[in-house]
Amino acid sequence: MDNCIFCKIATKDIPAQTIYEDDEMLCFKDIRPAAPVHLLLIPKVHFDSLAHATAEHQTLLGKMMLKVPQIAHEAGLTDGFKTLINTGKGGGQEVFHLHIHIMGTPA
Ligand code: 5GP
Ligand code: ZN
Repeated sequence: MDNCIFCKIATKDIPAQTIYEDDEMLCFKDIRPAAPVHLLLIPKVHFDSLAHATAEHQTLLGKMMLKVPQIAHEAGLTDGFKTLINTGKGGGQEVFHLHIHIMGTPA
């Protein structure tokens, strides 16, 4: 989507420190980390937020959720991690392309 910073990261028009990538999703380091490990997992397809997800995103969202513990483990978060999805302005969302925060401190 035009003028979406995370779409531009997904298409490599804006650089990011990529941790994981496949055909459907991309994980990269948050530019302003709020924890020793702070990653963002995004779908490559644009939708604004969890509140904008539809049935067509169901399988993709499931795949992303199942990928989170694998990414966290590979990032050294073997003792556990936090996940966060901010939704809407009132939910603290600043970038309106769905993303899952993965945060923690390596064990
Ligand atoms: P939100 O508040 O929307 O849930 O979180 C957006 C996150 O995106 C913030 O933690 C912010 O630091 C991160 N962020 C914003 N712009 C960029 C960027 O250009 N590159 C990266 N890697 N992270 C970004
Ligand atoms: Zn986007």
